[in-house]
Amino acid sequence: MIPKVKTFANLWLQWYEITVEADENRALPTIEIIGLPDAAIRESKERLRATFRNVGITLPKRKFVLNLSPSDIKKVGTSFDVPMAIAMLFLLSEGKIHYAEQIADFLFFGELGLDGEIKRVNGLLPCVVSAMKQWYKHFFVPAENVYELEYVPGIHIYPLTTFFQIIQYFLHGDPFVVIDQAKDIEQLFDKEQWYDLDFEHIKGHILAKRALAIAAAGLHNIVMVGAPGSWKTMLSKALQSILPPLGFEEILEVSQIYSVVGKLNKDSPLIIKRPFRQIHHTASKISITGGGSNLTPGEVSLAHKGILFFDELTEFPREVLEVLRQPIEDKAVVISRVAWTIQYPANFMFVAAMNPCKCWYHKDPEKACICSITDIKKYQSKISWPLLDRIDMILEIPRENIDKILDRGKGESSESMRAKVINARKIQQTRFAGTGIFSNAQMGPKHLEQYITLDEQSKSFLSEASRKLILSPRVVHRTIKLARTIADMEGAVEITVQHLAEAMQYRSRTMFVEME
Ligand SMILES: [Zn+2]
Repeated sequence: MIPKVKTFANLWLQWYEITVEADENRALPTIEIIGLPDAAIRESKERLRATFRNVGITLPKRKFVLNLSPSDIKKVGTSFDVPMAIAMLFLLSEGKIHYAEQIADFLFFGELGLDGEIKRVNGLLPCVVSAMKQWYKHFFVPAENVYELEYVPGIHIYPLTTFFQIIQYFLHGDPFVVIDQAKDIEQLFDKEQWYDLDFEHIKGHILAKRALAIAAAGLHNIVMVGAPGSWKTMLSKALQSILPPLGFEEILEVSQIYSVVGKLNKDSPLIIKRPFRQIHHTASKISITGGGSNLTPGEVSLAHKGILFFDELTEFPREVLEVLRQPIEDKAVVISRVAWTIQYPANFMFVAAMNPCKCWYHKDPEKACICSITDIKKYQSKISWPLLDRIDMILEIPRENIDKILDRGKGESSESMRAKVINARKIQQTRFAGTGIFSNAQMGPKHLEQYITLDEQSKSFLSEASRKLILSPRVVHRTIKLARTIADMEGAVEITVQHLAEAMQYRSRTMFVEME
C-alpha cells in the first residue's frame, strides 16, 4: 500500500490540496522527489536523511521516491518536509502506525531542521483557511506558527516542535497536546483597537476632517495639497481610525496576504486593523505592485481593505505612479508573465499628500510663493492626468491658525466620525447589493443612471456650474458621486443643491486646473 499524506500548498495566493506519495525500490539508495518541486524542496532530501538519522531510524539501502501530486502545480517553499517525512515513516513501518485509518483526515505542514527540529513556514494561515473549506479539521503545524491559527474556530491544532514528537505519536501512540479551543478574537481587539492618532487631538482643520470623513464613507480616493506644517501626513494617518472595523472574514482575507509574505508574528498574529501602508518615494515598482522572481504580493496588496498612502506624491518617479492606475481601477493587481497571469487583491483607498509647488507656499495665507506660473504647472504636471482622473477629491490644506492649534478644547473624536462613516457604508451596501460594487466611488456611468436621480433644482445648479466653471462631464460625474456620499452621511434619500455645492469644494479649482 502506497501511503498518501495530505498537505495544502500556496501558489500565488491560490491554495491547492497536495498529496505526498512515497514508494521505494531496489535501485541505488537515494531519495528522489518528483512532481514539479522547486529548488528548496529538492534540498529536502538532505533534511529528510538527517532527520531520520537523528531519531535513530536507519534508512534501508533503497531508492525512495516521493511524489507530490497533482504534478502540474508548481510546489514552492519548505512546508512539504513534514508531510514527506510522514509518508516515508508510513512506508518504513509498512503502514503499521497508530491512527493509520485517520491519516487521510490529517494535514501536515512544516520545515525540518537537520537536527529534527520543526521550523515555521510562511503562508500557513491561508492554507488552513482554504483546507477548512474542504472540511479538513486536523492540522499538524510547526509550534512556531500556532499563534496565527489560534483564533480560527472549529479546528484542532497539533503543534510540532520536533520530528521525535511525531515518532512518539505515530509509532508509539503517545498522547498529543492538541489545541481544540479557539481563542476569542475579542482579546485581540482589546489589545489593538487603539489607534495612534485620534482626530480629537488634531486641532482646527474642520474642512479637512469633514472631507476625510466623506472620503472614508464613500471610499473616495483623495489627494491633499498643502505646505509643510499643514499636517497633511498626520491627517492621513488619522484616517485609519475612522474606517469601519474589519469583519472576521475580512480579517482572515487580509491576514492571509501578510501570512504569505511572512509578516505575521506573535505580537500581531492576525491583521485586525485596516492596514495603513505609507510608501516612500524611493520604493521600486515591484515592491509596490508585487512580482519579482518569487511573485510576492506588493504594497498595493498589503494595503488591501485599508489605505495606501503616498507622501510627497510629486517626488515619485512617473513610471511608479503610472503602475497605480490599474489596481486603483480594478481593485486587484494583475502580474503578467509570458505564459500566464496572476491576480492579487488590491482593494485599497488611495490617499496622497503633496506640496503645491517647488517653494511650498503657493496659495499660503502668510508666506509668498516665489514660483512662476510655469514653475507651478511644471511641478504639478508630475502627477499625470490619467492618475488624477482616478482621484475624486483634491483638497487644499492650509496651515492652521496658531490660535486654533493652541486651543485646549477637543475636536470631534474619531469614534464619533467613525459612527457616521459606518452608517453611510451601510446605506451603500444596501443600495449596491448584488451589483458587484459596494461604494459610491465605484459607480460608473451606468450605475449613475440607475441609482441617481436629481431634481430640477439640482440639475439646473449643475448645468450652470459646469457652464461657468467649464467642467468636463467626468468632473460632473465625480461631483455627483461625492454628493451622493455626503447625502448618505446625513441619511438623506435625495441629493440636494447643498450636497452638490459641498461636493464641488472638494475638487480644488486652483490646483491642477489646467489639466481638467
Ligand atoms: Zn511656490
